[in-house]
Formats: sequence, structure tokens, C-alpha cells
Amino acid sequence: ASSSAPNYHIASIPGDGIGVDITQAAKTVLATLSSASQAFTLTYTDLDWSSFAYLKRGYYMPEDWATQLRKHDAIYFGAVGWPSVPDHISLWQMILPIRQQMNQYVNVRPTRILAGTKSPVAACQKDPKLLDWVIVRENSEGEYAGQGGTTHGHTKDAIATELAIFTYVGIERIMRFAFEVAKSRPRKKLTMVTKSNAQRHGMVLWDKVFYEVAEEYKGVVEFDKMLVDAMTVRMVEKPESMDTIVATNLHADILSDLAAALAGSIGIAPSSNLDPTRKNPSMFEPIHGSAPDIAGKGIANPVGAFWSAAEMVRWLGNGKLDEIAEGLMQAIANVTVAGVKTRDLSGEKSTTEVTEAVCQEIEKLF
Ligand code: ATP
Ligand code: MG
Repeated sequence: ASSSAPNYHIASIPGDGIGVDITQAAKTVLATLSSASQAFTLTYTDLDWSSFAYLKRGYYMPEDWATQLRKHDAIYFGAVGWPSVPDHISLWQMILPIRQQMNQYVNVRPTRILAGTKSPVAACQKDPKLLDWVIVRENSEGEYAGQGGTTHGHTKDAIATELAIFTYVGIERIMRFAFEVAKSRPRKKLTMVTKSNAQRHGMVLWDKVFYEVAEEYKGVVEFDKMLVDAMTVRMVEKPESMDTIVATNLHADILSDLAAALAGSIGIAPSSNLDPTRKNPSMFEPIHGSAPDIAGKGIANPVGAFWSAAEMVRWLGNGKLDEIAEGLMQAIANVTVAGVKTRDLSGEKSTTEVTEAVCQEIEKLF
């Protein structure tokens, strides 16, 4: 790289299952992007924080994990979770504490149909442009606040509470972020998802703050409100009627799996866990999990990991590396349109073959 190219420090956490395969693939692609573009370089710290490590030594992350992560410009994450550890333990040992303590209160999940991939929705097969969304997920509170408790253990008298926490501050900042995303996109449209007919406290506050912030965007961003159940139907039947979507931690988690499936596969979808203040490192990861059923088989789709890597480059550049990130997206599209795809996209290529093909496209583009 040229001497003026910035170097970024990345904490790499492959985690479990296919997280390991796709993180390796993403690093290969990022190395090619770095050398071909000469626009940036990356230095990694490899962290073995995983379920495998937990089973061996009793913890996922060392005590000083937050200090370690804060020495980096970004975190690249694969996936966490393994059948021999209950999911609520692995999530609460690693991914949720990182999101919360690194102040990553926004999770951005773009979904669109990449060239050469096929949506299960008939209308989108004819016109793939109908589906082009950005889901903005509240990432710090709501249903995943971790509050609640159980009495009478797990006996037949058991009572468990699961408390969703919504704060004015938490709602307002996610609404502002979502309106800004909507404003930055050509269609300038925001759909807010709620369940305020049945959940009469937090969701009603969510609605109220939404309309308050919306006042400031009147005439600039078009906006509407949907109940989450009706939203699932609208995503399938009228994908073109939406652009940017803002929803709570739980709702957006579910809707983004649906969105990815409607776009062709859960294996292509990226996510950015952002601290918009940039005081802490943001974290980039595909939305899929560790997929134990295909782990180690060499067939995991690395596209979601590549797309997440593109978003990381965009974030690190803060406006200066947008073209480089776009180049990576173009390379991915050139590969999928040529039919170089894994099985989840009805192709027959391996993770490695897709990775090599994307690297070749990058070499051609830069
Ligand atoms: P999590 O709890 O972390 O969200 P999950 O249990 O919901 O994980 P995933 O691992 O996300 O499950 O994936 C569900 C299934 O989708 C997998 O078992 C696998 O068959 C398929 N899948 C997920 N990601 C990929 C991928 N990158 N390539 C191919 N198939 C995938
Ligand atoms: Mg899942």
C-alpha cells in the first residue's frame, strides 16, 4: 500500500462453526482488496473467544475483554453458538455484552437481491429491484435488556418474567439514526414497526417518540407505522412499498431473518453494530449464526461475511473509502451473476471457490 494509506486495527473474533470458515474467507478478500486498491491496510488481533474455548477453560472472554476491544478501530465477528452450550449462555457471554458495552446501539441490516440470486417471491423474481431495504435495529435495550427472573425454578409452579426496557433516550437516538438513513437514500421513506396495540407501555412510548422525531423530518422523509404482525405480510406481498425500516431489538431480529430469506438466503445478509459516536469500536458480522449442520464442510456461503467486510471498510473510511467498499460489492455481484454460488443459493461451489472468484474480480476492478 502507498505510505499515505491508513492502517486500521481490527479485532477478529471468528467464534464458532461456520463463523471460522467465513471469517477466514473475509480476511482473504480484505487482503486482496487492500493490496489491489492500495487504499488502506489492516492489522489484526486474532481472538479465540468461542464456545470451544469456553468448554475448555470456562469462559468466552477474559476479564479485560472490553479494554482489549477498545484498542481496535473495529471488530470483525463470525458467529457464536454451539449445540453443547445453551444459546442463552453463549449469547450473554459474548455478543450481547459486546454490543451493550461498546455502545453499539444501532444495528444496520441492508437487504437487497444481489445479481444472480433468486427471491422466493414471484414478483421479485421478475423485478429484483422491488426489494431494497435497510432495517435499522435498536441494539441496546428493548426485549434483549436481560432483565427478569424466575421463581420456583423450573418446576410446574414456575413463573418467569422477561422485562423489556424502553427508555426515551434509547428510542430517540435510534429514531434519529433511522430518519438519517432514510434521508440518505433515494426514496426517503421510513417505516416504523411496533406492537403498540397489545403492548401498552414501552411500545406506546416508542410510537410517541417516533412521531416527535418525525416532526423534524416532515416534507423531507415520508413515514408510516406498521404493527409487526402485519409487517411480515407486507414484506412478502408488497416489498416495493418499503425502504428504510426501524424496529425494536426483537422485532428487527425476526424481520431481518425474514428479509434475508426473501432476498434469497440468510447466508448473504450483513450487519453493522455501530457506535455512532465512534468512541468505541463498531462490530461487523453476517446476520446468520454458526450453522452447526454445515460447519467444517466447506460449503458455507461467505457472501454475508464479504458484504459485512464491505460495510466495515465503509465505516472505517468514514466517507473516504466508499468507492473501495462499492468495488467489493461489485466484485461480489459479478461472481454471483456468473453463477459462482454456494448451495444455499442453488449453486454448487465451495466457500473457497467463491472466495477465490471474488478475489479475482477485485484484481480486475482495481
Ligand atoms: P443464531 O441463533 O445465531 O441466529 P440460528 O440457530 O438461528 O443461529 P443460523 O446458524 O443462523 O441458525 O442458520 C440457520 C440455518 O441456515 C443453518 O443451519 C444453515 O443450514 C443455514 N445457513 C446459515 N448461514 C448460512 C451460510 N452462510 N451459508 C449456508 N447456509 C447457511
Ligand atoms: Mg437466528
